[in-house]
Amino acid sequence: MEQIAQNLQAIEKNIEDACQRSNRAREDVTLISVSKTKPIEALRAAYAAGARDFGENKVQELVEKMPQMPGDVRWHMIGHLQRNKVKYIVGKVALIHSVDSMRLAEEISKESLKQGVVSDILLEVNVAAEESKFGTSLEAAKALYQAAQALPNLCVKGFMTIAPYTLEAEENRPYFAALRQLSVDIMGQNAHNVDKVILSMGMTGDYCVAIEEGATHVRVGTGIFGERNYFN
Ligand SMILES: *Cc1c(COP(=O)(O)O)cnc(C)c1O
Repeated sequence: MEQIAQNLQAIEKNIEDACQRSNRAREDVTLISVSKTKPIEALRAAYAAGARDFGENKVQELVEKMPQMPGDVRWHMIGHLQRNKVKYIVGKVALIHSVDSMRLAEEISKESLKQGVVSDILLEVNVAAEESKFGTSLEAAKALYQAAQALPNLCVKGFMTIAPYTLEAEENRPYFAALRQLSVDIMGQNAHNVDKVILSMGMTGDYCVAIEEGATHVRVGTGIFGERNYFN
């Protein structure tokens, strides 16, 4: 548990350095602690060390952990979301990162309307066009944005991508740059949104490069909590 605080400290330093290199303000980058498969004690250790944004990729795990953590935690749904589970997280999470179809956007809109809330979402884009990954294609992203943005009680805040797994972070730089360019192409004209566009990109292996390319939210799991406990 002490290791978690040390890891967070080291990552904080890396984030500060990456911000400095790219002339960005530290407060423009949010570190999301990705706590999937980790026991609540690990999340509490991260919270004690200052973490307030937590990311989970499964609805059930998310709703189980939520009441066990302090109320000021911001929860991020970062995993593939099935429409029949939307009702369990609307009104509870700060941001849904993984919207990749109009049917899913419509379901979130419908549930948000029912609950009288506005849901902030990101569109997940499969920038590298990997077959194994969810997400809309770069080409289809604009149409999805326009259609989803028109739905009631839904606010499309930006874009998310999961870059390919690689040992060489630099290899993912073009994908991060492409997502940023997409956000400018799609949302750039909209002066109201322009400086608030969210770009959720970068994980343990490549978050520094992602920040250099404009990430506003980085999602770091193993770098904070260590290897995942898939057998618990
Ligand atoms: C697990 C996960 C992460 C964190 O991955 P690490 O490589 O452990 O940092 C980030 N984003 C998503 C969508 C994930 O599912």
